[in-house]
Amino acid sequence: MIIKVNNMKNLALILLTGMFFSSGCGQNVKNKTTTMSLHTLTPEEESVIVHKGTERPFTGKYNNFFEKGTYVCKRCGASLYESSDKFKSDCGWPSFDGEIKGAVKRTPDPDGIRTEISCAACGAHLGHVFTGEQLTPKNTRYCVNSISLDFLPAGSEKPRRDTAIVAGGCFWGVEYYMHKIPGVISTEAGYIGGHLKNPTYREVCSHTTGYAEAVRIIFDPAKTSYEAVTKMFFEIHDPTQVDRQGPDVGDQYRSEVFYLNDGQKLTTEKLIGLLKQKGFKVATKVTLASTFWRAEDYHQQYYEKEGQTPYCHGYVKRFD
Ligand SMILES: [Zn+2]
Repeated sequence: MIIKVNNMKNLALILLTGMFFSSGCGQNVKNKTTTMSLHTLTPEEESVIVHKGTERPFTGKYNNFFEKGTYVCKRCGASLYESSDKFKSDCGWPSFDGEIKGAVKRTPDPDGIRTEISCAACGAHLGHVFTGEQLTPKNTRYCVNSISLDFLPAGSEKPRRDTAIVAGGCFWGVEYYMHKIPGVISTEAGYIGGHLKNPTYREVCSHTTGYAEAVRIIFDPAKTSYEAVTKMFFEIHDPTQVDRQGPDVGDQYRSEVFYLNDGQKLTTEKLIGLLKQKGFKVATKVTLASTFWRAEDYHQQYYEKEGQTPYCHGYVKRFD
């Protein structure tokens, strides 16, 4: 039974892959999916934030802009830079010599020459970081595309978007239910918690990469909360199962919450505590988020596209 269902998922993968190649419509499908999950971005924003492009120098909104406030990620709303770290570099792009702790991820470019910077919460491309230029005492220049940023003036309300990352079995099923939560803006299926760059589904299925199938959820904090989203996560998968979820067996199907800040960690631990009080032997791990790699397009919104419902997940009330 176990093998049969696992094979069903792999069979679907093979059929889909075959369809892409044989029908020649892979590009259309790909475009459609990309637009669907990032529907809030304009094509110009998408060319920089998703496809790692660069806006023309001296053209960006925040190049010559020095008001007091916080710069946040255009895609997910995470706070990235404070205006106190912004300086005039005359390079043509907004320049900062410091980041909000843990908000920005650094990744060497494939050519080994420059270092890319991206939003740690959602992976949005920001620009590049340079050191050793002696421009400020911190000797660092985050060179950021204006189009990757939004600006919140000092004293304004909290950001209008927040992010959660959870793993609880086959990501098709987790995404299906998390996407339905009122206040959720978008969801993406992906891989997190492993040790290989740019993992593929086949590599993750080999159980040698350490990755979990996961879902990144972007939500509007004015309409829902991290606690509500995480609570729902604990009620649409079985958090007592170890390295499996229903018929899907293996460490890629483990239950794990990947927190992005201490507040998320405390909230998750509180919810696990409540479940334990009720007698649930919770196996869910609570781990600081590492890089989230978006899964292949055919895994995104899988059940919606197929017009099916999950075989491995369902709602079970576990909190009062
Ligand atoms: Zn972001």
